[in-house]
Amino acid sequence: MHTCCAPCSVYCVDSLRAENIEPTIFWYNPNIHPFTEYKVRRDCLKDYAKMINAKLILKEEYGLDEFCKNVVGDISNRCVNYCYPKRLAETVKYAVENGYDAFTTTLLVSPYQKHDELKKVCEKLAKESGIKFLYRDFRVGFREGQEKAKALGLYRQKYCGCIFSEEDRYKKEITRAGDAAWGTPGGAPATTGEDAAAGPARRDYASF
Ligand code: SF4
Repeated sequence: MHTCCAPCSVYCVDSLRAENIEPTIFWYNPNIHPFTEYKVRRDCLKDYAKMINAKLILKEEYGLDEFCKNVVGDISNRCVNYCYPKRLAETVKYAVENGYDAFTTTLLVSPYQKHDELKKVCEKLAKESGIKFLYRDFRVGFREGQEKAKALGLYRQKYCGCIFSEEDRYKKEITRAGDAAWGTPGGAPATTGEDAAAGPARRDYASF
């Protein structure tokens, strides 16, 4: 099971175990930035896997440079065009090479992800690889999983992972700061073109 972080894995693991399915937790998330955030999420997952006695595979890869190069042409569609396929293709590769009969992902638990597009990415990979995609709409247990994660004291991140989603986290604040700097709440820059260019960028990114 591709696993993005410990809190999201809580409901997925619990519900699969309730079906007598024992998932192997597979960490592969080169989308998480900066490195300090990558480490804290990975280490929390290590602790959690130990806590619940689950098998954990860590596929380490970090690279802000590589990620940005691959999404810069279409930042708004970065999740579907690059981030999901990249992480899930690696998961499927590992599953095929190591004799697993199915794969899934904890990304299916999040109501903030593009669920239908994510499902399509998984279905395509299943078709290409011949390995089964274990689809579950884990979103029904999102709140329950988050509550349990909180009770267990797991680190709960404030943004999806990439540097663009980190910007989304502060979008309102950035917009307010821009309005204050420009002196025109919600409006266009009131000063020269040069001043406006120096102000914060306003972009319409997919939000987490
Ligand atoms: S918002 Fe999340 S899923 Fe989308 S590209 Fe960034 S890290 Fe990946």
